[in-house]
This record gives sequence, C-alpha cells and structure tokens, in this order.
Amino acid sequence: MAKKQFKAESKRLLDLMINSIYTHKEIFLREIISNASDACDKLCYQALTDDSVGMSRKDFKIEIKADKEQRILTVSDNGIGMDREDLENNLGVIASSGSYRFKQEVGDDAKDTDVIGQFGVGFYSAFMVADHITVVTKKYGADTAWMWQSAGADGYTITACERDSVGTDIIMHIKPDTDDEKYSEFLESWRLQELVRKYSDYIRFPIRMEVSKT
Ligand code: ADP
Ligand code: MG
Repeated sequence: MAKKQFKAESKRLLDLMINSIYTHKEIFLREIISNASDACDKLCYQALTDDSVGMSRKDFKIEIKADKEQRILTVSDNGIGMDREDLENNLGVIASSGSYRFKQEVGDDAKDTDVIGQFGVGFYSAFMVADHITVVTKKYGADTAWMWQSAGADGYTITACERDSVGTDIIMHIKPDTDDEKYSEFLESWRLQELVRKYSDYIRFPIRMEVSKT
C-alpha cells in the first residue's frame, strides 16, 4: 500500500513535538499505557452487555516488554483493538485536543514545551523517543489483524497481518543515543518501573514488565 500522509494539522503538531527539545520525553509511556487501559475499559464495558466477549475485569492486562539488543519497547494490551478504519481515523489524525490551535491563540510567547506538557497529545508523543513505530492490532469481532507503521512525520502505511488474539501491540523502536539526547534509559527496567509508578499508578489493570538482560 502507498504511504499515506498525515492530516496537515497532525503533521505540524508532530514536527513541533519531535523537534522541540522536550524535557519531558518520559510522558510518552503514560500516554501509551493510558491508551492501553482505555482499550481494556472499552472491551470490559462491551462484555457487560455482550456475553460472547466472555471476559471480565480481572482478565485484562497490560504488558511492557523491553528488548535492549533490538532497542524495542513494546506495550501490549488485550483490549478492544482496532480495525483498518479505526487505524485510519485514530492514528492518522492527532487527537485534536487543539494543541496547535491553542498555540496559535496564545501566540508564540508560550513555549512549545509548555503547550505539549499541558495537553495529553497522546499516541504521537511516542515519536519523541521512537524513530519508528509499528502497531499490530486485532479488533474484537474482526477476523483480520492490521499493522500500522510509521517513521514519523512523513506518513504511515497500513497492511494486513497476523495476530492470534484480540488486542494491540505498540512496538516502539527506541532512538539511538546522541551526545545531547539519551534514550536507552527507556529500555531499562529501573527506569520503566519508575515511570509506571510515577504516572500510571491509577491504572486499574495489572501492568506486567519483562526486560531482557542485555
Ligand atoms: P486519545 O487517547 O486522547 O483519544 P491518543 O492520541 O492517545 O488520543 O489516541 C488516539 C486514539 O487511538 C484513541 O482514542 C484510540 O481510539 C486509538 N488507540 C490508541 N491506542 C490504542 C490501543 N492500545 N488500543 C485501541 N485503540 C487505541
Ligand atoms: Mg490517549
């Protein structure tokens, strides 16, 4: 499939976010975990009225996996998942909480970083630490799984793929360290644990972690 372009507003915000020297890169994990939790909530809610889901609150979980050698951080959930249309609609547009518009209204005096800090910009914040993101997902009730891939502002692709069960994997390829910016810490268990404690304490589903030794 040909590479698709992000909607214009998304592209501006994405550029802004990736290029600003953002000191709170770490919040990406909070955003990704909260999406995983939302997805679990959605399927959990559906289970209340739809017996065929066959799951209850205790069955949902979020898993964090870090592979240091491959520099891959994966956050998986067994929530509602997304079909192709959901991927287009949800990940093709930056959730318009209006960060860009807000910045326009308040003028350029406000620092980019402040604006980003105030609004939950969500999924795209992962591009602050990842140079490439793959989303593998299967929606409840669907028989096809889909893979969304993007290396940032220049667009994304969606292709059919395999996934055994319903849910979503957010697979983040962590950027290489430079003299000025360090990213490897986001593959370390002490750091990930610290972030989960700091930002995701309120999440009501169990969060499990698995980090490779090297
Ligand atoms: P928000 O969470 O504020 O809606 P995000 O940018 O964080 O904005 O996410 C955009 C949308 O992408 C979500 O609303 C949801 O529909 C979808 N999404 C993101 N992550 C997941 C996930 N793990 N499972 C299912 N849907 C997801
Ligand atoms: Mg979100």
